Amino acid sequence: MHWNTRDIIIGFGAGITVAIVIERLRQRGSSRSTSTRQPTSVVPSSVSKHLPPPGIGIESTIGHTPLIIVKSLSQATGCTIYAKCEFLNGAGNSPKDRVAQSIINDAESTGRLTPYSGDTIYEGTVGSTGISLATLARARGYQAHICMPSDQAHEKSDLLAKLGAVVERVTPAPIVDQSHFVNRARNLARAHTEDANTRGRGLFADQFETEANWQAHYQGTGPEIFEQVNGKLDAFVAGAGTGGTLSGVSMFLKSRLPMIRCVLADPQGSGLYNKVKHGVMFHSLEREGTRRRDQVDTIVEGIGLTRSTRNFEVGRDLVDDAIKVTDAQAKHMARWLVENDGIFIGSSSAVNCVAALETALQLGPGHSVATILCDSGMRHLSKFWSQVGGIGGEAKTTLEDILQA
Ligand code: PMP
Repeated sequence: MHWNTRDIIIGFGAGITVAIVIERLRQRGSSRSTSTRQPTSVVPSSVSKHLPPPGIGIESTIGHTPLIIVKSLSQATGCTIYAKCEFLNGAGNSPKDRVAQSIINDAESTGRLTPYSGDTIYEGTVGSTGISLATLARARGYQAHICMPSDQAHEKSDLLAKLGAVVERVTPAPIVDQSHFVNRARNLARAHTEDANTRGRGLFADQFETEANWQAHYQGTGPEIFEQVNGKLDAFVAGAGTGGTLSGVSMFLKSRLPMIRCVLADPQGSGLYNKVKHGVMFHSLEREGTRRRDQVDTIVEGIGLTRSTRNFEVGRDLVDDAIKVTDAQAKHMARWLVENDGIFIGSSSAVNCVAALETALQLGPGHSVATILCDSGMRHLSKFWSQVGGIGGEAKTTLEDILQA
């Protein structure tokens, strides 16, 4: 670290200001909830009963996301199909907010990050983790440097730049290549730390391998779902990008509901379906050298892998089944959810919903299935949604369209 007198004065001043603001908010929060002088006519009790007190900073909008029953899919199957609205996490608007917060907390508590010291968080990401890290970096006193494959939707890199992160769109390369986006982020973090002329240190966030990833879902997403379904659930379905969500949530739910069925939703071109079904990563059609690029060959962004990661492996034995979802199925599902429910989601959420639908049909009426709505369709307008097309007031997508595509 390279502290000078000016840094210390600024840091000290900022610390005092933040402490005063936090204390005022805390006092306001506790006086709101306990004061008997508050005129009851100002806030109707039906409203205040359900609202939490003011939170401190954007971090306080992470977690405790709503769980909704998807009406159309529940009616169509006779099951209750729940969707956890992770796109409502308030920093980066995806489940990655939980992971980014967990990674930063872990690094701070082990002395690998110090706020306002010039420390920079480096990550290789297809987008969502980068957006959550870039947002929280701002909130917690760090810089963010994000490396992402150049074939991902521009909405994400544009947003990262607006959040003040350094963004590199890297030509897709195999994971064994040092120019692969994940390797590049790791190397840049190391170089930052080793460079005595650069302020602060570099932290490689390492979402694919770090325990802080699945732990965020084991401690947050999983327990929340369990509580929201009142401890009654027959299946949990999710895709895997790092595997953190599927592993962490499955680990928690299986500890409470040993009979629950945990199902991987896998997009076309990913090797994980075969890993779950047959214990091997690749299908003959997906073997190395036959795919068009190293990233999974699909329009879907955020899920699917052609290599195993520690976050996937840690929960692999808990995954009972896998469902392969084609791009065409995901596009029909995205249309169906807008046409019938007004739910506008991105490609990985559409894959999750196709697999949740198929799981419900396998289980039969009367069962309950939970899945994840990861991010909004707004983050996928130029790529996935440009292929899904306009809805134009129509309601004509059928279940057969989704199941047979
Ligand atoms: N959906 C989106 C949009 C994502 O970006 C990701 C993470 N890459 C996932 C789903 C999958 O989450 P996980 O990394 O926990 O498997």
